[in-house]
Amino acid sequence: MHQKGDTVVLHQEGRAVMGAVRGERYGAGVQKEYLVAAGGRDAWIPAETLEAYRPRPIYSRFQRHDLVKVYRGAGLVKARIVHVSATDYLVHYQGHSVDDDEWVPHYRVLEDKDFEIDPIRRRRPESDLHVQQLQIENKRLKDELAKTQALLAAAQKESAWVDECSQLQQKCLLVSDHCKKAVERVHGVLEEKQKVIDSWNCVVCLENQINCALVPCGHTFCLGCAVQLDKCPICRQTSVSPLPIFRP
Ligand SMILES: [Zn+2]
Ligand SMILES: [Zn+2]
Repeated sequence: MHQKGDTVVLHQEGRAVMGAVRGERYGAGVQKEYLVAAGGRDAWIPAETLEAYRPRPIYSRFQRHDLVKVYRGAGLVKARIVHVSATDYLVHYQGHSVDDDEWVPHYRVLEDKDFEIDPIRRRRPESDLHVQQLQIENKRLKDELAKTQALLAAAQKESAWVDECSQLQQKCLLVSDHCKKAVERVHGVLEEKQKVIDSWNCVVCLENQINCALVPCGHTFCLGCAVQLDKCPICRQTSVSPLPIFRP
């Protein structure tokens, strides 16, 4: 069924010619004819010898039975071309029921690269296998190298840490030694001070500070002890008497 203005293809003298539908009529009986302008003249052509002009598919990259990938939802699905129209493909999704077959626009259909690579692999299986083995070995060596480098880095870090610890320990020992010496010095000073203080105590009572001397021998005691002495306990001088003395 053609409409006025449609482009049609008619066969004239063994070749296909394009024409435009300008009118239609029923000829003798029920024979339908179209008035077609083709080759610069109009002619009535029987309907059954006309076919609708279908432009070649713009992306007729694929033919029936081709294996392709089709954008479906968020991903790509393997499919087989069932039919080809001007702009769409009827595809059958691999592993799906025929109920899922659908017409998809050409731009959703992609080449399936996997099917292109396979024949090449089949042609050169040994060299490919060798390349694959080398690639696997290469990857293994790379992994090993990365692991070794990581271990080495960790070991270097640890060694640096140990060195630092050792240095800190030495510093601590040094500081501790200094502290010890300082404490010893302080103790020495305190002892000396105590000696000085003790030496200024009365040798008789060992409690009171010296504040008098015996005349004439000159030995020193506290006044409390001195008044009770009739002779000096240090030099045995008799007839002594206390004389108060004063610190500077
Ligand atoms: Zn005394
Ligand atoms: Zn004396």
